[in-house]
Amino acid sequence: MITAVKGTQDLFAPEILRWQKLETAARNLFERYGFGEIRTPLLEHTELFVRGIGDETDIVTKEMYTFPDRKGRSLTLRPENTAGVMRALVEHRLCDSSAHSRLYYIGPQFRYERPQKGRYRQFHQIGAEVIGDASPGSDAETIALAADLLSASDILGPVVQLNSVGCPKCRPSYVGLLRGALLERRAELCGDCQRRLEANPLRVLDCKVPSCQPILDEAPRLDEGLCEECHAHHEKVKELLGLLGVSFQLKPRLVRGLDYYVRTVFEITSSALGAQDALLGGGRYDGLLKQIGGPDAPGFGWALGVERLLMAMPPVPEERLGRTYIAWSGEGTYARALSLARDLRARGLAVIMEHSERSFKSSLKRADRLNVRWALLLGEDELKAEKFTLKDLQTGEQEALPAGELAARILNGGAS
Ligand SMILES: [Zn+2]
Ligand SMILES: [Zn+2]
Repeated sequence: MITAVKGTQDLFAPEILRWQKLETAARNLFERYGFGEIRTPLLEHTELFVRGIGDETDIVTKEMYTFPDRKGRSLTLRPENTAGVMRALVEHRLCDSSAHSRLYYIGPQFRYERPQKGRYRQFHQIGAEVIGDASPGSDAETIALAADLLSASDILGPVVQLNSVGCPKCRPSYVGLLRGALLERRAELCGDCQRRLEANPLRVLDCKVPSCQPILDEAPRLDEGLCEECHAHHEKVKELLGLLGVSFQLKPRLVRGLDYYVRTVFEITSSALGAQDALLGGGRYDGLLKQIGGPDAPGFGWALGVERLLMAMPPVPEERLGRTYIAWSGEGTYARALSLARDLRARGLAVIMEHSERSFKSSLKRADRLNVRWALLLGEDELKAEKFTLKDLQTGEQEALPAGELAARILNGGAS
């Protein structure tokens, strides 16, 4: 037997219903905030991620699916979607068009990580990008959108964790301070951190190794080294989040796993999964477009992991699908069932029927297994009377109705 590739999964009912529910909620919410959808290819030139994400990040050094194509060009399955969106904006010269300044995406990403509960090698993200707005209000509003999406998903105990990572002007002096403080305790740090200490000390703050945590807890705070502009921006974001009713916690050593962030970074965690792992994260990335060859336009964005979000979502109550199963039996009933099904579908209903005859008993069993809400019984008596028995499998109620009243009754959700 050929199985699915390790770290990937097949999705089908009933689990897929939760995915569809989340995606629909996300699309509705993005629409309300004026975002438009963008879909970029799963495959990109490797160079895009090296330049866009940073060659010192775990993603680029350890986790990318990179391979030469048949002509020897290095391609990579996208490990995240922001770089691809930026590439598309630059390539199609969309960055100065206000019509394209608010974008969202929903789709698969690929990282070679150790598979574990809620972590897959093909995983899925929902993300938002706002291009061309440098104001703190843009940060606050886009964070509020993220918080709204988690509320719409009934996530338990969502907490917004907020920080500022400064800018190219003020960060170097903070990084110097951080390096100095960490060098004193170099021997206590894990091997990865010792290496990062040389290449990119900020990455050390991202370490998840337990023995590194006490040292990181005593490291200098990012918010103490901010320049005047970054400080003012940070204060304004906090004020506006308060105004929007989004509660948050300050996390003065929060950095995100990517090099491109400036000023605001944030994560949302859930008490349902423990505080360590974020469900959603993002921040401001003003230099990113330029870094991949575009104009010097500011940006802000976030992404959430669909698989992990679904783990934190309370189970959706079992509900029957709003479909109708036509059970037919007896002379002349098949032809009538066929035309009735066609008629009901034209009125917007979902209808299932068999094309070989079976008893009503066996039909009702099948309808139950298909988890449909409605069964429509069509026998010779019904045909003669021109009244059909509509059974609500959720409540067990049934009534006889003429064909013309069936659609309205089903759409209204049952007996009046
Ligand atoms: Zn600054
Ligand atoms: Zn470490």
